Amino acid sequence: MIERTVGDLDEVLNNLGVFRCSPDDLLATCPSGFRRVPITQGAGYYISLQGFGPNQVAFAHTHPDSEEWVVVLRGSGQALFGGNPVPLSAGVVVGRGAAHPHGFLSGDSLHMLSIQLPRPSEGSTTWDQAGDTTEPIGCSFGGTCRRCPRCGGHSKRIAGGSFSCENCKLDF
Ligand SMILES: [Zn+2]
Ligand SMILES: [Zn+2]
Repeated sequence: MIERTVGDLDEVLNNLGVFRCSPDDLLATCPSGFRRVPITQGAGYYISLQGFGPNQVAFAHTHPDSEEWVVVLRGSGQALFGGNPVPLSAGVVVGRGAAHPHGFLSGDSLHMLSIQLPRPSEGSTTWDQAGDTTEPIGCSFGGTCRRCPRCGGHSKRIAGGSFSCENCKLDF
């Protein structure tokens, strides 16, 4: 049996058995930062959808313990590996070995399927690029949001006035 995590997309398989989706409907992109929809995860794997709006960045970071394959579903951009950017367009598959610093930069938009093997362990990721945040805006999905200065992900205002990143869980 596959272990399921509350909130991951694979929860629907408990009831439906078969599920068809369009990533466009799930990856509601926001100008503040990129978004991720987890599909399924366990100790040995983490599969998710990742969605960037126009000109969004995932700041460079390193997973010393996890390899990754990405499949570009829509849009364009660049995967950034040190000084060697790899162009991304729909249908392209890019693999990355463990311990390779990497980031992403979207063009008009960028939707990807990400397969990480195994799942990066908690606290093992190093953040290699000094990121920055954006001014808070009213989010079209409710509340107030801004960009996470650590990973570039979409972050929502939480009680107390600080923000919490949906992707890397940083509170700032
Ligand atoms: Zn937002
Ligand atoms: Zn973050």
